[in-house]
Amino acid sequence: MKVFVASLATETNTFSPVPTDRANFLAAFYAPPGRHPATPTLCSAVFPSLRSRASREGFELVEGTATWADPGGLVQRQTYEALRDEILDQLRAALPVNAVVLGLHGAMVAQGYDDCEGDLLARVRALAGPDAVIGATFDPHSHLTPKRVENLDILNAFLEFPHTDFVARAEQVVDLTLRAVRGEIRPVISVFDCRMIDVLPTSQQPMRGFIDSLRALEGQDTVLSVSLIHGFLAGDVPELGARMVVITDNDPERGARLAREKGMDLFALRGATRMTQHGVEEALHLAAARVAAGATRPVVLADTWDNPGGGVAGDGTLILRAMLDAGLNDVGVATIWDPMAVTFCLAAGEGATLTLRFGGKSGPGAGDPIDATVTVLKAVTEAWESFGASRVPLGASSVVRIAGTRVDVILNTNRAQTFDPDIFSGLGIDIAEKKYLVVKSTNHFYAAFQPVADEILYVDAGTHYPSDARRTRYRKLSRPIWPIVEDPHAVEA
Ligand SMILES: [Zn+2]
Repeated sequence: MKVFVASLATETNTFSPVPTDRANFLAAFYAPPGRHPATPTLCSAVFPSLRSRASREGFELVEGTATWADPGGLVQRQTYEALRDEILDQLRAALPVNAVVLGLHGAMVAQGYDDCEGDLLARVRALAGPDAVIGATFDPHSHLTPKRVENLDILNAFLEFPHTDFVARAEQVVDLTLRAVRGEIRPVISVFDCRMIDVLPTSQQPMRGFIDSLRALEGQDTVLSVSLIHGFLAGDVPELGARMVVITDNDPERGARLAREKGMDLFALRGATRMTQHGVEEALHLAAARVAAGATRPVVLADTWDNPGGGVAGDGTLILRAMLDAGLNDVGVATIWDPMAVTFCLAAGEGATLTLRFGGKSGPGAGDPIDATVTVLKAVTEAWESFGASRVPLGASSVVRIAGTRVDVILNTNRAQTFDPDIFSGLGIDIAEKKYLVVKSTNHFYAAFQPVADEILYVDAGTHYPSDARRTRYRKLSRPIWPIVEDPHAVEA
């Protein structure tokens, strides 16, 4: 038995002004054949899983390239085609194979390609042939197209958001693929279009219980795997939206019935799953009230939609501007992405005072640049923060204090979501002296900030991130979905 494995992944925010090219893949994660580390990445956990199965069971594993770019805007056409063809050439050289396993994200969009993964899978199928078993893992924040399903035998998505189960899901796809190659199962994929798009965190109810109910179905009778594709709000593609996926052992009727049943169960939860969000004014009012009441720890304001983890620039200034206007003091901001301003701070040097324009430069919608007299408290060529056990590079970074205040702002050159309070301490900001912290993250910051925060407030600052489908001008969406249409299941697609 011979199995080929590769991984090509990123999450494309088609509304983002930050283009994605090969340099973004090389900078984030790029492992040529045989060079994948022993540890998994989010979208390449099929590599270590297949390695251990191959060494235990004695089949031949041929490794292709594994690569990932941090979320950003549209992928350059040449970049996508070159990475795709690199993997296809590796597969061609490995033929014949019994199986192909791919670690995908599922929300990659390139210039001229709304469905990169569908394009890749169709080409993989054409090379590997109709008898090869093809399996793939997806991030649930993705788009499930018919082209992908047609060319796959096995697929699943992480059930958890945050994606704490990505290793277990990769192991499931590997296991089902190997069982299919050995003729132990005949997988059939059933998909139901839930015709909705929403934010579906599983760390809280009602999604916690819903995901548990999906997990309970796996392994019952003929049900091999159940997945929920959440969809990805920031991808303007025809298939945008949630899909329920059930894989059965040759039991398409039961698969279709279950997918519809659970899909409609999810539809019934629409609008009830998000974290509570505040507008800027309301959030600042609530935060100031906590401070006035004698909070001994900082109030954390999460700028949920100016989160580089969702592909935006992360140079938004709306919350900081409002805090300055409101006269709030003792503030720490992590971070505002501004490579030009960091260059200026490095040139001016630590201790220097200068007039600086920072933030709000990448495009409209996230606030105007801030012009201020600042003192450079810190200017370094490399900085980082923790994310669990891993280190996230911030690139060259500086800390500026706005004149006449104790408002300290971290400026960075690598777009990075805020994950950990050590982003502040690493750059000399003592959060014990701060009353307010502003972070750029939707939910991944929560675990590390919760223990040091008086309170956490999620803020919808009104940035241009397409967080509300009703207000987003999707041009390619091809069918009715909630919340754009109140009852899309009553409408002919
Ligand atoms: Zn995701």
